[in-house]
Amino acid sequence: MKYTTLLFALFIGFLACSSPQNHVTLDTDRLIADIEYLASDELEGRYVGSPGSEKARTFLVERFTENGARPFQGSFEHPFIFLRQGAELTGVNVIGSIAGKTDSVILLTAHYDHLGIRDSLIYNGADDNASGTAGLLAMMDYFSQKQPNHTVVFAALDAEEGGLNGAVALANDSSFMERVVLNINMDMIAQNEENELYAVGTYHFPEFKPVLEKVETGDINLLFGHDRPEDGNQDWTYASDHGAFFRKGVPFIYFGVEDHEHYHQPTDEFETVPQEFYKNSVQVILDAVIAMDYFLFN
Ligand SMILES: [Zn+2]
Repeated sequence: MKYTTLLFALFIGFLACSSPQNHVTLDTDRLIADIEYLASDELEGRYVGSPGSEKARTFLVERFTENGARPFQGSFEHPFIFLRQGAELTGVNVIGSIAGKTDSVILLTAHYDHLGIRDSLIYNGADDNASGTAGLLAMMDYFSQKQPNHTVVFAALDAEEGGLNGAVALANDSSFMERVVLNINMDMIAQNEENELYAVGTYHFPEFKPVLEKVETGDINLLFGHDRPEDGNQDWTYASDHGAFFRKGVPFIYFGVEDHEHYHQPTDEFETVPQEFYKNSVQVILDAVIAMDYFLFN
């Protein structure tokens, strides 16, 4: 090997070690199989406290175990009680972690609950939010093979619909929250005809924007916004679980799409999900997580 070639090889080696690796390949077949199962009629719309919700949880715990995630504070399942229209309900968050090089935590979240059955119609919630939940599993799969810098805590949250209740329960664990440097939340990441995906939160955390702008997005049009007070009801700062963590001072990036014709409709099902957009969307979010893990560590 010529000296210059050797230098070049060393340089490439240095680049490979020192920069976040973008565009790792996801197991997209598994991703699609996961969203299909989570949004199937068998899970009956995953309403909090229902048998369908329990089936979803059994599946999640199996996958957390398979991926070598560590039970969070001794268990994958974290029940909590909350009030809905005067009645006490029990929800269960599913939480596990993959150890990084530090105890500081990046908290990845996606709610797995949805609206259940109404007037004998199953609300499968494929985009809302089987999409984020299957995305969470894909990322766990990735980080179980490639150690992150931060410890990554994966939380499939319950009872988001109607009050962010699972997120509020976790956010109340203040000693855990002290270790969380970033929440990345996924809620509705599978459905957009214009290939548009939003990264929400850079109005509050402008230092994240250049990091996200460098992520390779391929066919996805990654947009910023929906996070300014003047956006009115289109300000999504508190629209999903990230809002509960942000209230406790935790920085966040929320990934999601614009509302669409299937939003909170029985037609939000696996068959109406544009699979290419969904796969690309999860790829972009994974690359963003890797970039943020690198950015906040260095
Ligand atoms: Zn949702």
